[in-house]
Amino acid sequence: MKDIRIGNGYDVHALAPGLPLRLGGVDIESAAGCIAHSDGDVAIHALCDALLGALALGDIGKHFPDTSDKFKGIDSRILLERTMSMIRDAGYRVGNADITIALQRPKLAPYISRMRETLAEIMGVMTDSVSVKATTTEKLGFVGRSEGCEVYASVLLFSID
Ligand code: MG
Repeated sequence: MKDIRIGNGYDVHALAPGLPLRLGGVDIESAAGCIAHSDGDVAIHALCDALLGALALGDIGKHFPDTSDKFKGIDSRILLERTMSMIRDAGYRVGNADITIALQRPKLAPYISRMRETLAEIMGVMTDSVSVKATTTEKLGFVGRSEGCEVYASVLLFSID
């Protein structure tokens, strides 16, 4: 019988003016970007944590420490690829993923389909198995003040046999 596992992930990065913003593997036109050791793709970080969490493999900080020069400025798509190798090596595949990005501005609607396609390709699933949703927080809290970007991710994994 197939084993089914659920995982959730959460990540926050602070925003600063003039930095590039990349979310879900897609470059976003924005006046501010994430402060980070890596490329700051907070959506991919939350997704990796959800994938690792589903198999109780720890978290992204354990596998890709932000104290290591190896991961300085790294494209987070590479982190997702490496996370997916761990998932496959453990004998699992992705059923679906659902990601919610909380960001006050800019509006992410024009970028959502490219994020879904990018993430689906790396995870080896159809695009309709990957949901990316965006919300503001109605100007409330640190997201609402554009001080940070916050992402929640959920995934379902199935054992291969
Ligand atoms: Mg992070």
